[in-house]
Amino acid sequence: MRDYCGIFGVYLNKGKIGHIIKKGLFHLQHRGQESAGIVTSDGKTFYKVKNFGFVARALPDNEVNSLKGNVGIGHTRYSTAGDKDSFSNIQPICFFAYNKNIALSHNGNLTNAAYLKERLVNEGSVFHSTSDSEVILHLYVRNLNLPLAERLREIEKKVQGAFSILILEDEMLIAYRDKHGTRPLLMGKKEEDVAFASEEGALRVNGFTEIRELLPGEAVVVKNGEVLSLQIANAKRKNQCVFELIYFARPDGHIFGKAVYKFRKESGRLLARKEDQEIDIVVPVPDSGVMAALGYSEESGIPLEFGFIRNHYVGRSFISPYNREEKVRMKLIPVRSVVEGKRIALIDDSIVRGTTSAKIIQLLRENGAKEVHMRVASPPVRYPCYFGIDIPTKRELIANNKDIEEIKKEIGADSLIYLSLNDLYNLTDPSRNDFCYACFRGDHIYTPSAGK
Ligand code: SF4
Repeated sequence: MRDYCGIFGVYLNKGKIGHIIKKGLFHLQHRGQESAGIVTSDGKTFYKVKNFGFVARALPDNEVNSLKGNVGIGHTRYSTAGDKDSFSNIQPICFFAYNKNIALSHNGNLTNAAYLKERLVNEGSVFHSTSDSEVILHLYVRNLNLPLAERLREIEKKVQGAFSILILEDEMLIAYRDKHGTRPLLMGKKEEDVAFASEEGALRVNGFTEIRELLPGEAVVVKNGEVLSLQIANAKRKNQCVFELIYFARPDGHIFGKAVYKFRKESGRLLARKEDQEIDIVVPVPDSGVMAALGYSEESGIPLEFGFIRNHYVGRSFISPYNREEKVRMKLIPVRSVVEGKRIALIDDSIVRGTTSAKIIQLLRENGAKEVHMRVASPPVRYPCYFGIDIPTKRELIANNKDIEEIKKEIGADSLIYLSLNDLYNLTDPSRNDFCYACFRGDHIYTPSAGK
């Protein structure tokens, strides 16, 4: 399972616009490593830098520092829709239409993009990319004659799926989170400056402190320093992605009103209460299982040990020619002196295909572990995601066609315990009823190509 996209936008009174956006994107790097881009505006002209790869490589300092203007947006991309190797799919996507410069950064995925694209093309729109995000931009541009709130409502009426977006229209910055609120979008303030980001860390690193989440269906517009909030749409069913809390978001911030670090630690505590085996040490799969393992260890009193050291210098492009087993071996280095002869509770955030878990367990056994008991800080992932997370097809998901006993055998564990759905409801707060659990339950609010 991989991440999707990170978005960042800022209106500055004064300061180095490119530098601030780049810093924000650095802190959203975990949400997309395929490409990065920045577009800034001085009200008359757009200034751009975009390229493939990590932020550091895609956005060189000399180009970033030459970006002019006091307002801009940026993007880190992991493609869940559209060709990842096409330069035109790198965001922000830019248009010049009706004498206006317009750019868009999008986090999420549209389930009826193909249908809408076909309609738009038949009506004369010319697409420059294969990204579903461009559909939103066409719908926006087509309604430029309408007041802004109506423009956004027209998009809401037509588009299905998940879209937290930033739009730059000449000198105006617009942040919008769709009515179901699947993906996060936060706003921060610092004196007269205003910024928006997918995650809190990208705001805090730039000194923005007055931080709040946009509500589902809320737009915030910044023009000439004036900040205006508009409630564009309301949906009965909210759909905030619970996987942001389980795995995707960085643990230093809050997502959907929950402290991510505490959430993960608490999931480990709940797992520890289910323990029915004799365990010597708790070992996290780094980095995703660390906080749950800490909670498990605190609750059970069993010591936490780092049985794996993660090689942080193995980049995605370096390991891409290798198969899954080789990738695991290059990324995770077992510590024999820690695991040898031990009965281990191995903690990870989730099991998707099961192939990575199998390799990790094999590594522990090769290094002398006596028993390996797999403990998973989320329920079995049985269904794909259509809202911007790259969860494989149903057929590839190990929990879709196997029961717990079969999964245990296939990954080679001595025992296997998942967090229950009830535990997850309790962690998210059952009274709220505003989360998406569709990859566990299959009750997606939209499915692909749903049409109108
Ligand atoms: S299906 Fe799963 S990963 Fe996708 S939005 Fe819902 S909770 Fe998140």
